[in-house]
Amino acid sequence: MALRASCLCKDVATEIDGPVRDILFCHCTMCRKAHGTAFRARGRVRTDDLRVVSGEELVRYYESSPGERRGFCSVCGSNLFTRFAARPQELGFALGILDDDPGNRPTCHVFVGSKAPWYEITDALPQYDAFPPGHARPRDHEDGDA
Ligand SMILES: [Zn+2]
Ligand SMILES: [Zn+2]
Repeated sequence: MALRASCLCKDVATEIDGPVRDILFCHCTMCRKAHGTAFRARGRVRTDDLRVVSGEELVRYYESSPGERRGFCSVCGSNLFTRFAARPQELGFALGILDDDPGNRPTCHVFVGSKAPWYEITDALPQYDAFPPGHARPRDHEDGDA
């Protein structure tokens, strides 16, 4: 069954037909600012697995790094998904907009070198200063991941 996800105002709704993989918490400065919080919870989905079932015309993009466009709802401001010029086959997906349980769970914290000083990580997940080992990192990427 497809996983449902929607923005705060519900005008943008999506369905995901495949798994949400590589769930993590990103503490990079850009994710903190984009989400207005201590970290971004994100997963990866195959671009072909995600369908925007309503409100596609309301999605706007902000290019936070060259080739990395963060999509958000232009009505309510919810972060939605990120498109990568270097990896068009996958999307970064803002976990907070899910209406269903993806089943998978977070695996690590990344960019803890940029972590907010007012936030303390209290779980036992592995922490990485930047990307985790073996992460496919786009060459033009300075900071942030999804
Ligand atoms: Zn919205
Ligand atoms: Zn980030």
